[in-house]
Amino acid sequence: MQLNFAQPFVQNIQSLSQNNISMDVLRLDAVHPVISGNKWFKLQYYLQDAIANNFDAILTFGGAFSNHIIATAAACKLHNLRSIGIIRGERGNKLSHTLSYAKNLGMELNFVSRDDYKSKKITNTDYKSFYLINEGGFGYLGAKGAATILQAVNTSQYTHILCACGTGTMLAGLAMALHPNQKLIGINVLKGYENLLKDAQNIVPADVNFSNVTVLHQFHCGGYAKHNNALIELMNNLWLQEKLPTDFVYTAKLFYAVEALLQQNYFEPDDRLLLIHSGGLQGNQSIKDKLFFSQLQ
Ligand SMILES: *Cc1c(COP(=O)(O)O)cnc(C)c1O
Repeated sequence: MQLNFAQPFVQNIQSLSQNNISMDVLRLDAVHPVISGNKWFKLQYYLQDAIANNFDAILTFGGAFSNHIIATAAACKLHNLRSIGIIRGERGNKLSHTLSYAKNLGMELNFVSRDDYKSKKITNTDYKSFYLINEGGFGYLGAKGAATILQAVNTSQYTHILCACGTGTMLAGLAMALHPNQKLIGINVLKGYENLLKDAQNIVPADVNFSNVTVLHQFHCGGYAKHNNALIELMNNLWLQEKLPTDFVYTAKLFYAVEALLQQNYFEPDDRLLLIHSGGLQGNQSIKDKLFFSQLQ
C-alpha cells in the first residue's frame, strides 16, 4: 500500500443547495483513499507525544471495520512505531478487509471478547511498555489535532460548520477552532448517545466556547453502521450528480441530515455551509454491492 498523502480541498455542491444557501464540502477524504481523513488529523499529536516520550509502541482499540485502527496502523508504519490493535470480538475465519489492511501495515492484532473489550483490560503480557490511544482517538490531543482541520483551507467565510460525530472528539476540536459567530452542528451517528456533547466538552479546556455548538440526535438512520434505502440512494445520487463519494457510517448521515434540515428551512437564505467530509470510505467495502462507486481498487 502506498503511503502518499494529498491535500484536502473544497468542493462546491450544487444539487442540494437552495434558497441561495451555499454548500461546500471540505474533502479530508482526499488526503488518502484508505486512511480516513479525520483520524489522520486526530492522531498527529498523540504520535508526537509518544515519540517525544520515547515510546516505540502504540496500543489502541477498535472493531473489525474501524477507521481508527487502519489509520493508526498506517501512522505507526510511517513513523516506524510498533502498533498493537486490541480488536473487539473473536477472530473470524477470515479477517475483515479493514483488519487485513491493518495487518499488512504491520499492526499486531489481538482479539478480545466483548466483555474484556468493554473493560479495556490488557491481559497479554507481551505488551509491556506502550503508548495508549483511546478508541477513536478520544481525548484532548485528538481534539487538538482535529482543530487543525479548520486550518486546512480558509474557513472564516462560512456561517456553519457541520460534521458527523462518533466519540465527539472532532466536534470538540472544531469547537476550539471556530470563528466568532460561526455555528457548529454535529450529527450524532450513534443511537442513544445523549451525552455526546457533554463528553466532548469534557476533553477540552473549560474556556472553549460551546455556546454555538449543537448536536442533533435524530439522523442516525437506525444506529451506528446501520443503513436504509434512503441513505444508499442519497449516496448514489451524490456520486452521480457531484462525483462525491461518501461513507455509509458517518459522512452519508451528515448529508442525509443536511438534506432534511434544508427541507425544514433550518438555515437562513445566504447562509454558507461547510460540511466536513471526514473520510471513512474504506468502510464502504462491506456494502459495495449496493453502491455505484467503490473506493478500494
Ligand atoms: C471516526 C469518524 C468520525 C467521528 O469522529 P469523532 O471524533 O469520533 O466524533 C467521523 N467521520 C469519519 C469518517 C470517521 O472515521
